[in-house]
Amino acid sequence: MTEYLVPFIRPSFPPSNEVARDLDAIVKSNWFTNYGPKEVEFSRALEEYLGQDLRVTTSANGTVALLIAVQCAFGRGDRSQYVLTPSFTFVAVPQAAIWNGYRPRFIDIDPLTWQASPNAARAVIESDRDNIAGVLLPNALGVGSPDIDEWERLAAEWDLPLVIDSAAGFGSRYEDGSYLGGRGTCEIFSFHATKPFTIGEGGALSSRDPDFVQQARKCQNFGFSESRLCDLLGVNGKLSELSASIGLRQLAGLENRIAERQRVATRYRDELDSLGFVFQPNAEASSCVCFTMCCLSPEQKTAVLLNLERCGVQARDYYNPPLHQHPYFAGGNAFTRAESLSVTEDVCSRVISLPIYDRMPLQDVELVLKAVREAA
Ligand SMILES: *Cc1c(COP(=O)(O)O)cnc(C)c1O
Repeated sequence: MTEYLVPFIRPSFPPSNEVARDLDAIVKSNWFTNYGPKEVEFSRALEEYLGQDLRVTTSANGTVALLIAVQCAFGRGDRSQYVLTPSFTFVAVPQAAIWNGYRPRFIDIDPLTWQASPNAARAVIESDRDNIAGVLLPNALGVGSPDIDEWERLAAEWDLPLVIDSAAGFGSRYEDGSYLGGRGTCEIFSFHATKPFTIGEGGALSSRDPDFVQQARKCQNFGFSESRLCDLLGVNGKLSELSASIGLRQLAGLENRIAERQRVATRYRDELDSLGFVFQPNAEASSCVCFTMCCLSPEQKTAVLLNLERCGVQARDYYNPPLHQHPYFAGGNAFTRAESLSVTEDVCSRVISLPIYDRMPLQDVELVLKAVREAA
């Protein structure tokens, strides 16, 4: 494995002696999971952070939160219906549709925002409403979609559930200034080690509807009712007490860490703007999981990535290749034939993700910038 001078991700974690103190208290209490006191405290703290009178439940990871969100919002399918979702996202998104008995139907993204295009969705819905079970909308790269009002109008107009995957976007804001978490039927987050707000493995689901969150909580506890009778399909998606206690520690200071990450993003943008690169709208109000930009051409992308590698900078190109080109989805597990995905393919051919991490030293930022400038 190559040792990079500047890695793509450098997770920050609470000091191990603090985690050891939590573990000690948990062992003494002899309560390790099943919505114990730490989980309840962490859920409440997440609600307080997000505001907007939202209800939140934690989950074992973002993927299980997404599976449960789809089940609770759409019901379970019999493989006859589609879920609309972009191809420019992470594999877990269409997989959540498939696990629930739906076929993902990929729609194109908007050329300016790189977010799923409401117009592309509208065209499919108008021609095929009866075969659509719902919309699975990712906030691309943890950035709040500038079209979120339009998506909610579309979902209401056609009476479709709208599940929003905000996995990398805990602490990101929509253009109206509100935190991600309060739109659509529900939103989900991931607290994986690769996300700005991390506890290693973990996730959450939030909604304006307390009954929906209660139902989700029940689903991730095997579908048990209060009287411990199982009356719906469930799974084990609970967050452990130790993970919840780490989450409580990580929440302290998150606002400052995000502000630091945003300053790095601003520095990248200010320095790279004049070279012709283009950036994602509203990314400056996000938790900055990375810094995403599009090159002028695929050739320029190749040159920049090569020089970053040569200079010891680890970069990525999320979400390339687009999902419809992955063998599993190309091989008939997703509906890909009808819609054009030309914007997705064009953006994928030019996109680059630059590293951002907590407390990133200025010299690391400058090294990245130098490597990009040289190649551009
Ligand atoms: C990270 C991510 C997930 C998966 O979250 P896990 O916590 O790793 O299960 C799902 N969707 C998107 C868009 C992601 O970025």
